[in-house]
Amino acid sequence: MTRTYISVTTPEDAAAQKCETAAYLAGGTEINRLNSNVEAQTLISMKKLQELKVVEDLDDYVAIGALCTFQELIENELIPDYLRKALLFMGSRQKRNMATIGGNIACLRDDSYLLATLVAADAELFVLENLMIRRIPIRDYIKREPNDDALILTINLKRNFDFVDSKRYANTVESLSTLVVSMVKDAGQISIAAAIKTAGIYELPELAAAAMKPDVTEEELIGIAYDLDLPIEDDFRGSAKYKRYLLGVTVKCMLEAAAKGGVR
Ligand SMILES: Cc1cc2nc3c(=O)[nH]c(=O)nc-3n(C[C@H](O)[C@H](O)[C@H](O)COP(=O)(O)OP(=O)(O)OC[C@H]3O[C@@H](n4cnc5c(N)ncnc54)[C@H](O)[C@@H]3O)c2cc1C
Repeated sequence: MTRTYISVTTPEDAAAQKCETAAYLAGGTEINRLNSNVEAQTLISMKKLQELKVVEDLDDYVAIGALCTFQELIENELIPDYLRKALLFMGSRQKRNMATIGGNIACLRDDSYLLATLVAADAELFVLENLMIRRIPIRDYIKREPNDDALILTINLKRNFDFVDSKRYANTVESLSTLVVSMVKDAGQISIAAAIKTAGIYELPELAAAAMKPDVTEEELIGIAYDLDLPIEDDFRGSAKYKRYLLGVTVKCMLEAAAKGGVR
């Protein structure tokens, strides 16, 4: 396919060029990937949008520019450790030097490195859409389709929680994942989210409600995971039943870690 490149100098220009047959070119690691799902005829190069490469300290929150690469964020001291852990799920340093946080979110992949963590942490996106800047909770954004027209500008993330952890299951760090689970506990509330291969990215309030019960057992959590009304399918990484089992067990492990005052 012959592609047209457009270089833009403002976020407004970028958003004005976006349509169904165009894509925002950030790091290009998904767009240029073999068998990529992004089939754009026009690529909107955002290299010159330096204002989207800034990380800002907002006291309890950090505002992350959408064009920051994984590696830049890992090396930035304003980034909370729990996000750094998820950023390191991308094992290849070469890829981390190119791939951006905004691009990762917009891909909405069912094996997303970051989305389970960002959803559990209740991140908010600032996007440019229909010529207006809008604030969208990430838990709403994940219901959209990949390669959405809205331009992600910044991601606002709370810096500290009582407990937060994310776990990624894959054969090797470079392999595609079966499951990424994240749990946040704060002010007595629990939030759980997962990226489940073949199914998608979900906030999981049923599991979170069960996890709030002080005496919840591993069997109960596995039972709830089995009963979740989600389109989880068998694939070469594991059966649907196995993915559900893993989800229940992981939540129990995280609860135990939280009770011991584990990972923050
Ligand atoms: C071998 C290989 C394995 C991979 N495995 C995984 C994996 O396991 N998990 C995973 O999550 N990803 C994986 N990826 C995909 C990719 O590396 C990451 O998701 C990366 O973070 C995408 O960011 P990017 O900047 O490179 O996006 P790009 O490739 O530049 O763009 C990807 C999409 O995001 C949109 N986009 C980019 N920036 C914005 C923005 N600011 N606002 C709105 N839309 C935007 C584009 O329009 C396009 O549709 C893999 C890639 C490769 C090559």
